[in-house]
Amino acid sequence: MIVKIPLRCLRCFTDFVHDRQDLKSQESADAYTIYIRRNVKYCPKCEPDRRRILAPQEILFLQIHPVSIDPTSSELPRGTFKLVFFGPTFRMRHAIKKLGYEWEEPEPTSDNLLSTAGSKGEYRKYIDIEDIVREVEAAQRIYATVCYPPPPEQIADANAIRKKLRATQVEREAAYENELDLLENPQAPDILPDVMRRTAGRRGEWHGNTLHIGYRRIEFPREEADVLKEYKAKLTNYKQQRLALKRKYGIP
Ligand SMILES: [Zn+2]
Repeated sequence: MIVKIPLRCLRCFTDFVHDRQDLKSQESADAYTIYIRRNVKYCPKCEPDRRRILAPQEILFLQIHPVSIDPTSSELPRGTFKLVFFGPTFRMRHAIKKLGYEWEEPEPTSDNLLSTAGSKGEYRKYIDIEDIVREVEAAQRIYATVCYPPPPEQIADANAIRKKLRATQVEREAAYENELDLLENPQAPDILPDVMRRTAGRRGEWHGNTLHIGYRRIEFPREEADVLKEYKAKLTNYKQQRLALKRKYGIP
């Protein structure tokens, strides 16, 4: 009897049909179908390419873990999911790096024994939940077998993390704005627009009451020079403090 088994290529997502004509019974046809569904993952176009890259028994795996969030930490987690490659990662390193994965030493507290067993590090990438489909497809294109999908409770956890992250982000931004309001944002002196016009907005260096801009020399009355210098010092200070605040609260 003839069996026709519809399949979808894990790499190029093309639908194709695997067929066989010489099966003797329904039983053997069923067993054969199960075998093929388990073992044929790539279409006839992609399979030869996979064999060139990976040995028949080799499987490149991609694992997806929800990122655990430490509520006591002040650091923002890098994403909602951590993606980790394992298997022949050394051979596949160029393709893996092209996908934006970075080699990292394992975390000492890692609960992920599978992916780090026997290895000193792993290729990791941190992503948010909306990027998961794209990342999975990209990994499948380099013949990774994706340990996918994470169980629903992990997705639910990830969503909770995400909500928490958003809340944290909002809190951080609010705290940043509050502290920013406390900084003295120096008032621009009245003469500034005129000075900007005369200097064409270019930076210069003060030598006494003279501003040197390249080869140009612009002389200012003493009081004006003092006002401008003071404003510049205050503004520099303000910008430095603002930058420090941004770093403190993780604001881009
Ligand atoms: Zn294919």
